[in-house]
Amino acid sequence: MNIPARLLVVALLFAAGSAAAQDEDRFKDVKIEAIPVTPGIWMLTGQGGNIGVSAGEDGVFLIDDQFAPLTERIKAAIAKISDKPVRFVINTHWHGDHTGGNENLGKEGVVIVAHDNVYKRMNQENFSKVFNMAIPKAPKAALPVISFNDTVTFHLNGQDIHAAHVEHAHTDGDSFLHFRQANVIHTGDLWFNGMYPFIDSESGGSVAGAIAAVEAILAVADANTKIIPGHGPLGDEKALETYLGFLREVSGRVQKLIDAGKSLEEIQQLKPLADYDATLGQGFFKPETFLGILYNGLKKP
Ligand SMILES: [Zn+2]
Repeated sequence: MNIPARLLVVALLFAAGSAAAQDEDRFKDVKIEAIPVTPGIWMLTGQGGNIGVSAGEDGVFLIDDQFAPLTERIKAAIAKISDKPVRFVINTHWHGDHTGGNENLGKEGVVIVAHDNVYKRMNQENFSKVFNMAIPKAPKAALPVISFNDTVTFHLNGQDIHAAHVEHAHTDGDSFLHFRQANVIHTGDLWFNGMYPFIDSESGGSVAGAIAAVEAILAVADANTKIIPGHGPLGDEKALETYLGFLREVSGRVQKLIDAGKSLEEIQQLKPLADYDATLGQGFFKPETFLGILYNGLKKP
């Protein structure tokens, strides 16, 4: 990915759900693919965060909704799975690549649910210093109409779909979803599978919380659990355990350098994650950017 394209993707992580003309163009080649996970559960890929779908006799339940210009394509992909209406969408966190479809769905009467801090952040203007970008307050129709402070459980389609908040991880409003009977988990951005992750310390995220969140997910997973990450391919317990080891290792290395008094620039020059860069540094975040993410995420509680 060249630099402008990468910056574009970074901007897209934050972009709110407005469907401006240039946005339409930007998304024109995106195809929504439905990947079967277990009977009744699918993962939809397109652009932005992976969408989870539960479809059955009670209707359609969505986890995240990517970007506004993709809503019609997402609905077309769902229509191939189910003739039932979308009833609920839960946002795993507030970032625009997971909530961009909210306004379109909200206007159609889909009930939007999220953690209290998702509501709070979407209902105010935000400014990202890291990306030097203002994120406007979301329109009313895009806001969650139900918010929760810890956990909420949906009883739909023969599943207990349990959403659990984890504190100060990728942001301060993350939840992961556990389909208990189906043994499926959607992690939101608590897991970037196969690439360097983002930890948004400006939105209340932290490295320690990101590690604790993965531990909390693994505590309810087993060897047969199918795990939908926020970004990257469908995974499992073993792959998530590898990610946990990675987070512990890289944060330990960078913490040592911080403790030794190194500045971010000095840490970047030392290339302390060189052994990971070739495999994980080809995603959204190049090695220097990821070191900045770790540095900022470790400097804060
Ligand atoms: Zn995110």
